[in-house]
Amino acid sequence: MMMNSLIKNNIESVQNKIKDACIRVKRADSDAHLIAVSKTKPVSMLQQAYNAGIRDFGENKVQEILEKYDKLPTDIRWHMIGHLQRNKVKYIIDKVCLIHSVDSLRLAEEISKEAAKHNLVMPILIELNIGEEASKFGLSLDQCEDMIREISALPNIQIKGLMTVAPFVENAEENRHYFKAMKQLSVDIMTKNIDNVCMDILSMGMTGDYEVAIEEGATHVRVGTGIFGERNYQI
Ligand SMILES: *Cc1c(COP(=O)(O)O)cnc(C)c1O
Repeated sequence: MMMNSLIKNNIESVQNKIKDACIRVKRADSDAHLIAVSKTKPVSMLQQAYNAGIRDFGENKVQEILEKYDKLPTDIRWHMIGHLQRNKVKYIIDKVCLIHSVDSLRLAEEISKEAAKHNLVMPILIELNIGEEASKFGLSLDQCEDMIREISALPNIQIKGLMTVAPFVENAEENRHYFKAMKQLSVDIMTKNIDNVCMDILSMGMTGDYEVAIEEGATHVRVGTGIFGERNYQI
């Protein structure tokens, strides 16, 4: 099978599984969005995904977004999903549609400051480390509300929801309780009616567990390997 049709087939298969997961829990699939995580993959593969209908791409490195940005169609929505250093915010502030990985006030302040220079309001998500893993970025559950209140006061930011990278597990069911906890947290925050905060977006679920994440309320799943194949970090 040619590479071209492989990516297209993978996308169709992921989209079908998302639809099926929505049907199982009687959700409208119109609010379940697929982000193709294209980190480490060449522009030619992103173009194939684009040709197959993908418009949302997730990247975790500023440099890689900048390299790919000019080579691909302008109607792509770029999602910054990786840890973001404050000194690099300025390079992507006018290029990404959503920053998923905000976990500190200092980072949020920098985003707001750079957004102001471009006269824009940057949509962001608050990243939670729901599995409380030492190796991962993100806030703990009990830090979350205070941080949201502080960040929400910044002028050029809008908090749109929550994001998490759940633990790596063999069986996706092991993460169900984490996804449930994320959904519950987003409902709890919403009921507090904090100014400038909405909880429309719940970004969770990756290749190994996106179906379970959708069943538990994910609005955005971030799928890399399941679309583009294994990543090779050597090249
Ligand atoms: C790499 C990455 C993904 C995609 O992971 P896969 O297991 O390849 O689907 C999703 N989210 C984040 C934050 C990532 O860094």
